[in-house]
Amino acid sequence: MNRIPQTGARAAWRSLPAAQQPQWPDQVALREVVADLSAAPPLVLAEECDRLTERMAAVAAGEAFVLQGGDCAETFEGLTADAVTAKLRTLLQMAVVLTYASGVPVVKIGRLAGQYAKPRSQPDETRDGLSLPSYRGDAVNGPDFTERARRPDPARLRRMYEASAVTLNLVRGFAAGGSASLYQAHQWNRGFLADSAEGRRYEELADGVDRALRFLQACGCDPAGLLEAEFFASHEGLLLDYEQALTRTDPRTGAEYATSGHLLWVGERTRGLDDAHIAYFAGIGNPIAVKLGPGTTADEVLGYVDRLDPDRRPGRLTFVVRMGAGRVRELLPPLVEKVTAEGARVAWICDPMHGNTVQTEDGRKTRRFDDILDEVAGFFEVHRELGTHAGGIHVELTGDDVTECLGGGDRVRAEDLHQRYETACDPRLNHRQSLDLAFRVAELMKA
Ligand code: PEP
Ligand code: MN
Repeated sequence: MNRIPQTGARAAWRSLPAAQQPQWPDQVALREVVADLSAAPPLVLAEECDRLTERMAAVAAGEAFVLQGGDCAETFEGLTADAVTAKLRTLLQMAVVLTYASGVPVVKIGRLAGQYAKPRSQPDETRDGLSLPSYRGDAVNGPDFTERARRPDPARLRRMYEASAVTLNLVRGFAAGGSASLYQAHQWNRGFLADSAEGRRYEELADGVDRALRFLQACGCDPAGLLEAEFFASHEGLLLDYEQALTRTDPRTGAEYATSGHLLWVGERTRGLDDAHIAYFAGIGNPIAVKLGPGTTADEVLGYVDRLDPDRRPGRLTFVVRMGAGRVRELLPPLVEKVTAEGARVAWICDPMHGNTVQTEDGRKTRRFDDILDEVAGFFEVHRELGTHAGGIHVELTGDDVTECLGGGDRVRAEDLHQRYETACDPRLNHRQSLDLAFRVAELMKA
C-alpha cells in the first residue's frame, strides 16, 4: 500500500492507506493530468446518478432486477462502435429475456465507459527471469511485456477520460436514438448466430414481444418508454486520483458526486474498512457497490452499512457477492441475515465470475459455464430460504464470439480456448453464453 499525495481539499481519504494504486514514476505529469481532469466537464450528471439510486431502491425493495455486465477490462484499442454496440445489444437481449420471463423491470448497467483499471494479485510479473510491473489496465500501463509498455504513464488517465466520454456518447445515442426500441428486439439478434439454439429461442421470444406490442397498440396504448432504453455506466472506482479529479459538487444540493460513471464499486482487494477506498466512497452521493469475496466477515459487512449508508437510504448501497459456486450456499446466509437484522435496505447482486476462475493446463484463466450457473442458483436458493430478494447478476461478457469461458450454449472446450482468447484480463462470456445464461436465470426468477 502506498500513500497518495495530499493535493485536494475535502478529501479525507488521502491520509489513509490506499491499496492497488500505481507507482507513477512521473509525479509532475500526474499532477498536471489531475489538474486538467479536475477542470474537465463531468461525464455523468448527479441527477442521472440519483435516478439510478431510485432504480436500485426498487431492486432493494424486491421490485426490480439488475443486469450489470461488460468487459473485465475495457481497452483503448477495443473501443470501436461495433464492439460497444454488440455489448449493448447483448445486454438488451439478456434484459428482454429476463423481463419477458419474470415480468419484473430490469435495470441495465454496463461495466463500461470507465472500466480501464485493474487490481492485481501480484505487483510484478516475471517471464524468463525478467520481472516487470504487472499490467494494471489501459488506464495505467500497456499489456505488452516490455519495460516501456509496463511503465505507469499518467497520460493514460486523460485517455481513459476521453475513451469513457466516447463510449458514453455511443451508449446515449444507442439508448435514445431508436436502436434500443423494443420494436427492434429482432434486430438485436442480427449479426449474431441466429441459427444457434439460443438464437432460435431468442427469436421465438422476440416474436412474443412483437405480439405483445401489437396487442398494446391495438388497445390504443403505445407508451413512448418502449422506444428508448435506459442504460447506466459503472466501473470499479480503483484509481483514487482519477476519481477525486472527477468528483464534482452537485449545485442542487452541495453534495459531492463521482462524475466518472453512474455507479462505482469497491473491489474485493480494496475494501479494507479503514482504508482510503471506503473513505472516498463514503463521501460521494452516487449509488455504490462493494464486492464481497469468500473471506468477508459479518462485522465487515455491518461496517460497510454504517460507513457507506449511515442514513439507510434505499438504493444507495449494493453488495456484489462473489463467493464461488462451492461456497455461496454456506457463506452468504449469515451476511444477509445480519444486514437484514440491521434494517439496511441494500440490494444483493451475484457476481458468479470472480469466485469461479480456474487455470487450464497450459496456464490460461477460464471459467466453466456450469460453475457460473451453479453460483447463481445457489445465490437464488439462499435468498429464497431467507425470504430476501435475489436482486441481480454482475457478469463479465462481450458481444463478440470469443472463446474464453468453457461450456454453455457454445459448448466451448478447453482445446478451443486458443481460437479467440482476446480478453485483456479475465475470461468473459461470449454472446451465446450470455444469452444462454439469461434464459437460465429467467428460469430461476420464475421458480
Ligand atoms: C473485477 O470485477 O474484474 C474484479 C477484479 O473483481 P473482484 O474485485 O471481485 O476480484
Ligand atoms: Mn474481472
